[in-house]
Amino acid sequence: MAEPLFGRLCLLGVGLIGSSIARIARQRGDIAGTVVAHAKTPSTLERVRELDIADVVEADAARAVEGADCVVFCVPVGANAAVMAQVAPHLKPGAIVTDVGSTKMSVVRDLGPLLPKGVHLVPGHPMAGTEFSGPDAGFPELFQGRYTILTPLPGTDPAAVEAVRELWRRCGSMIETMDPATHDKVVAIVSHLPHLLAFTICSTADDLAEETKEAVLKFAASGFRDFTRIAASDPTMWRDVFLNNREALLEMLARFTEDAQALGRAVRWGEAGFIEDRIQRGRKIRKGLIERKQA
Ligand code: NAP
Repeated sequence: MAEPLFGRLCLLGVGLIGSSIARIARQRGDIAGTVVAHAKTPSTLERVRELDIADVVEADAARAVEGADCVVFCVPVGANAAVMAQVAPHLKPGAIVTDVGSTKMSVVRDLGPLLPKGVHLVPGHPMAGTEFSGPDAGFPELFQGRYTILTPLPGTDPAAVEAVRELWRRCGSMIETMDPATHDKVVAIVSHLPHLLAFTICSTADDLAEETKEAVLKFAASGFRDFTRIAASDPTMWRDVFLNNREALLEMLARFTEDAQALGRAVRWGEAGFIEDRIQRGRKIRKGLIERKQA
């Protein structure tokens, strides 16, 4: 078996994403000599012990990072700054700090300033997930064939970037690098706006269900059902994502609203060609995803 990539790997947060990394490290054996897991609540820590997916389960964040060669922030993005304040003085010189957060400008803003000299920051975002959360939700195949986007700032130690790339390679991911602002714009359209629409359509249907005496929910097994899957996602995580990608999300929402109005106008005025064109574009995008094996 290859040498472990890190002597000691610390996962701050062991929900869907953190526990998937822990499971992969356990299964492969070449990611870390020791895996340390930290979470906020005693019940999660206890469950991680029961699942036996980490070598050390540590309730104290500062103690968890001590001696770690790589520390992965796997907490909701809104918790990053507070957790960093707890752990920063205890990071090992030369350690790599990375994360899995769905927003990247906010991570640079929240983790960057507290980073001790000699500690390397390499932000990352695995573009893989489900609507489930917590340590039971993770599974080792989660990142298989999925992209992970890294957003290192110019001047970051190339060896630290390469180590994080290798971590994700060993997790089964394909890796892309881009700047944090571009990342936030891309995910605003491919992930954050669809979630915003899903949450909204479910609330609208829920309001309407009162008027129609449940009929809306009874017959939900049509297009609506596909929205309900992502609308089942974790409220804390998504609240934090929306608040930490505010600019890009509002820009995409404004563009979407204009386009939706245009389609509505075409429906009102019976512009069949316009309507058909929009539907064709949707089909083309779906076909492209299937061809890229991302569907
Ligand atoms: P999750 O299943 O809800 O797990 C979050 C973990 O963070 C839990 O272990 C939680 O511990 C811990 N935590 C929360 N606040 C904390 C604090 N102040 N101190 C220490 N630990 C804390 O969330 P997830 O889905 O794994 O998401 C984690 C990160 O990955 C987020 O930043 C998210 O944006 C990103 N991400 C998510 C997905 C997705 O589809 N879910 C995809 C890609 C990236 P307790 O259980 O004890 O509260």
